[in-house]
Amino acid sequence: MKLGTKLIHAGVAPDPSTGAIMTPIFQTSTYVQSAPGQHKGYEYARTQNPTRDALQNALAAIENGTHGICFGSGLAATDAVLKLLNPGDEIIATNDLYGGTYRIFTKVFAKYGLKFTFIPMQDARNIESHITPKTKMIWIETPTNPLLNIIDIHAAAQIARKNEVLLAVDNTFASPYLQNPLDLGADIVVHSATKYLGGHSDVVHGAVIVKNEALAQQLYFIQNSTGGVPGPQDCFLVLRGIKTLHVRMQRHCENGAIIANYLRNHPKVDKVYWAGFTDHPNHDIAKTQMRGFGGMMSFTLKDDSLESANRVLSNTHLFSLAESLGGVESLIGHPATMTHASIPREERIKNGLADSLIRLSVGIEDADDLVEDLKKAIG
Ligand SMILES: *Cc1c(COP(=O)(O)O)cnc(C)c1O
Repeated sequence: MKLGTKLIHAGVAPDPSTGAIMTPIFQTSTYVQSAPGQHKGYEYARTQNPTRDALQNALAAIENGTHGICFGSGLAATDAVLKLLNPGDEIIATNDLYGGTYRIFTKVFAKYGLKFTFIPMQDARNIESHITPKTKMIWIETPTNPLLNIIDIHAAAQIARKNEVLLAVDNTFASPYLQNPLDLGADIVVHSATKYLGGHSDVVHGAVIVKNEALAQQLYFIQNSTGGVPGPQDCFLVLRGIKTLHVRMQRHCENGAIIANYLRNHPKVDKVYWAGFTDHPNHDIAKTQMRGFGGMMSFTLKDDSLESANRVLSNTHLFSLAESLGGVESLIGHPATMTHASIPREERIKNGLADSLIRLSVGIEDADDLVEDLKKAIG
């Protein structure tokens, strides 16, 4: 079955009691048993919920995995994956991770004895030299935020397999429409469904998808034992969101290409970071492992100052100034003062995050209007 069909049909079946075509929101905490221990597979809603089950099955199908395990947020999903590990274990992670992931690694799990090494991975061979006998997991994010670096998932997977460590990939930026890490050899896929999967900026939700029974059972055990589960209403919203993922992503990609090319030709714009350009350093890898280049991009201004960035940021009308990404509406953000404000300026600049760097999550509005909006704001 192809993705567009799976997105609509996988995991869901008409409700047996009414025929409702949409899986109902089972807003219940418990389930009545006909006799002690006799039930219909549902005992208590932290452990099982039919709305969550439908979503978990749908997510497994669209990432070409066997099991989906849902959580109350993307970071709760990350939290569950790290709980597969033990004190003393080492994790090698991408150096330009999502800020919240960096925070949970260094501020929460480091004190439980997990050791993290952050390295650039644009050349995946770099990973191997950091592997030690204690390394248990490689953690990748691709494309990265906000510089849209691309990491070769297949190459990383080969290193992971050879060294018998797990490869986890945060697939939030690409979504299963553009990239399926499990097909490229990853063991674990993590999503912030808050972004493209939900797609409408109306829910916070996370998921883990795997293709290995033993790993799935460990994750279900962690999900039930630590309890970071999503509510049924949120599962319903993500289930509804993914039904249009392919249609939305198609438009995100089309609009993304139009905006990236517009910016690149703008006399006041300096660099544009977007993996669809043939001169992007890892364009060839992006072309191999992704089915399109998406609507996430960043750019800098020739007048590289906070003031000039501010002028652009406060003069767009369709692009709303906000954190987050992946919704139908276009968003604009400023890493230096928003998502990456906690990083000292010197370090930020060293990592390529210039003062004027602006990040766009290009939505699915009419591209002409989006271009017009940027034209007026950049001047
Ligand atoms: C937003 C985001 C997360 C965290 O997800 P939440 O749903 O906000 O907890 C993790 N990774 C990436 C790449 C993200 O963009």
